[in-house]
Amino acid sequence: MSRVYNFSAGPAALPLEVLETMRRDIPDWQGTGMSVMEVSHRGAEFVELAARSTRNLRELLSVPDDYSILFTQGGATLQMAMAPLNLAGRGDTADYVITGSWGKKAAGEASKFLNVNVAADASGDKFTLIPDEASWNRSENAAYLHYTPNETIAGVEFHYVPGGDVPLVADMSSTILSRPIDVSKFGVIYAGAQKNIGPAGITVVIVRNDLLERAPGDLPHLMTWRAYAESDSMTNTPPTLAWYVADLVFAWLKERGGVEAMAEVNERKAKKLYAAIDASDFYSAPVREDCRSWMNVPFVLADDALDKRFLEESKAAGFANLKGHRSVGGMRASIYNAVPEAAVDALIEFMKEFEKNV
Ligand SMILES: *Cc1c(COP(=O)(O)O)cnc(C)c1O
Repeated sequence: MSRVYNFSAGPAALPLEVLETMRRDIPDWQGTGMSVMEVSHRGAEFVELAARSTRNLRELLSVPDDYSILFTQGGATLQMAMAPLNLAGRGDTADYVITGSWGKKAAGEASKFLNVNVAADASGDKFTLIPDEASWNRSENAAYLHYTPNETIAGVEFHYVPGGDVPLVADMSSTILSRPIDVSKFGVIYAGAQKNIGPAGITVVIVRNDLLERAPGDLPHLMTWRAYAESDSMTNTPPTLAWYVADLVFAWLKERGGVEAMAEVNERKAKKLYAAIDASDFYSAPVREDCRSWMNVPFVLADDALDKRFLEESKAAGFANLKGHRSVGGMRASIYNAVPEAAVDALIEFMKEFEKNV
């Protein structure tokens, strides 16, 4: 077996220990004589998995008792529609802070259902910074404020939680579980799984219970958060395989000291990579220093004619998926929880060697 260092932005690297458990489990899961894909989601074993994973996620993120944890399908993208539909009506206004492509997409989706007030938009700065909170143009009666704590494509991350007293709705797809968060500051947190939770196909939504009451009765059942809360996310058949992997990842995180321990390693991984980039004239990181992402590190080569060679040689050396998003160009190293510090160390060494040899 040969594994590469995988810097994919998503679907992203999973812990090797989790993959090995899966391989062992597949033919005969928990002595059932069946794989987890072949059992009823209403059977005792799966119901226990669902309860355990919810409990573990609650513990990992210190989710207060007055919040529900939901598991849905449709990815983070469906939540971009479900948030406005569950939280507000047609005539209402919601504030959107756009610091990258995902926030822009969320605002576009919401504008189909309500009045979107763009409180801040960093597209003019090519999404390389977060506009100062004092400059945000917030509306008087916003139903909520939506923002993206970590923009996966440009690599822009909030290292603070915005203030104000309207419910905060946060797309945490690419930062959830990378560090501790104060859930009580949020109204709704949502995250597609395929960055820091597990495989694509399952989505986590954490919602303050009073907000569950806002949804109109005529929403489709599967688009109503309340329906998931009332059925322990068994409104219909959940994505059992993806949920099973998420459960393994939560256990893996707990064994390793939880999000506090992850944060320590993640901060160190990011800081040393940015430091190596900043120390060279050959590489540069476009994002302003105070809002650089711990999870997604975009960088460019001084001469983009060398991009192709960098990608070929890095691939040959065992580094996968370093190509930057087409909207940014250059390179991007996504260094989620499951990417070990050794991968970052090896990448830094490779980058130094490459610079020396061209
Ligand atoms: C990956 C990503 C998405 C898209 O998630 P899907 O699960 O594919 O819908 C949305 N927002 C952010 C911040 C992401 O990183």
